[in-house]
Amino acid sequence: MNDILPDQTALWRHVERIIADTCDAYGYREIRPPLLERTELFKRSIGEQTDIVEKEMYTFVDNNGESVTLRPEATASCVRAGIEHGLLHNRQAKLWYVGPMFRHEKPQKGRYRQFHQFGIEALGWPGPDADAELQMFAARLFENLGVRSVKLEINTLGSNACRAAYRDALRDYLSRYRDDLDEDSRRRLERNPLRVLDSKIETTRKILADAPRLTAFLDADSFAHFDRLRDYLDAVGIEYAVNERLVRGLDYYTSTVFEWVTERLGAQGAVCAGGRYDGLVEQLGGRPTPATGFALGIERLLELVLMEGRDVTLDDCDVFVASLGDSAELAGARLAEALRSRGVNVLCNFGGGGFKKQLKRADASGARFAVILGDDELAGQAASVKDLRGDGVQTSVPFAELDAHIARELQRPPATSAVSA
Ligand code: ATP
Ligand code: MG
Repeated sequence: MNDILPDQTALWRHVERIIADTCDAYGYREIRPPLLERTELFKRSIGEQTDIVEKEMYTFVDNNGESVTLRPEATASCVRAGIEHGLLHNRQAKLWYVGPMFRHEKPQKGRYRQFHQFGIEALGWPGPDADAELQMFAARLFENLGVRSVKLEINTLGSNACRAAYRDALRDYLSRYRDDLDEDSRRRLERNPLRVLDSKIETTRKILADAPRLTAFLDADSFAHFDRLRDYLDAVGIEYAVNERLVRGLDYYTSTVFEWVTERLGAQGAVCAGGRYDGLVEQLGGRPTPATGFALGIERLLELVLMEGRDVTLDDCDVFVASLGDSAELAGARLAEALRSRGVNVLCNFGGGGFKKQLKRADASGARFAVILGDDELAGQAASVKDLRGDGVQTSVPFAELDAHIARELQRPPATSAVSA
């Protein structure tokens, strides 16, 4: 679990702002479910035989003897909240969330025990149009952040019926190689053989090369849904690859599944993952409601933004107020407040010191302008304003005009000698 330090939070806020704007663009509305839920919720939704439920959850018994769990993901909470508050009652809902998730896995680069996910869930729409819009959303978000290295992979798991038939066929096939499978895959073979397809172990992958393919078991409706999704992606110009091995690590997925992956993050290359989960709402006690969504790992996204993203403009300090003497300090505080009323970010020099020292602090603050107040300035009721980023010109500006002057100057790029000449 990591501290996110002040040097990093500006980037987090930048990314979160773009996420929120993109959600507005597609009509998603924010939901903030609690971090703690009844353990039962995750067992019933994610599935008992998954990595998450088997070994990754932070679960404990509270003072009432109830088993509770720090959320390892938020789809289950969105669905629970949707049912509980009637958000899905005779209507549809587009929800989004962002926040911490908890999984007790082996920490490594790009994989943490408290990490953050952003996710969207479209509840109530059965068609490939909703699946396709998720990809348009993701593509636009990456574009808005300047991230280019991610590629979309899609697959379909078909209906429950085709998947059940396939599961039997796959189990029969893999059982013949039982002794050659890795230990995890052997364990999964009985209860959740589709998960074996996900294996990264070389020997197991060799065995999988000749395994039966899900495509052979798909019914006409599943094909039609998948083809229509592809039509949409072609129509809006989103490139993708069909990856028949793509199965998701949670049990609730049906039909469309997908991942946005990159090669730039080493082993932890999945940035965004999701799919359709038409059975989950009913499974958690609601009326049958089709649903589709994704979750995106913020830490991995941030890595990519740092590597390849657009330059980020951060809300740094705009003005540093340097003042010398008791009266000048009070005037400085008054002028700083006037500037802040105009939305300007201001740092005031604290703890005295001579002008030389104060201007060093001004430089280190990253401020664009220093406002200098000493005896002369007080006498003339006009501040000296120094452009710290341009050619360092110093101008005298009457106190009464200072806030308007600075607000106007901040709209302009720093003056260079060539421009001011
Ligand atoms: P992986 O195969 O990497 O374990 P997953 O299938 O468990 O991923 P999901 O549960 O689908 O992942 O979560 C969606 C996204 O959340 C992932 O694609 C990834 O970007 C991010 N994510 C998942 N687990 C972690 C973690 N422990 N630390 C950081 N990010 C994570
Ligand atoms: Mg995982």
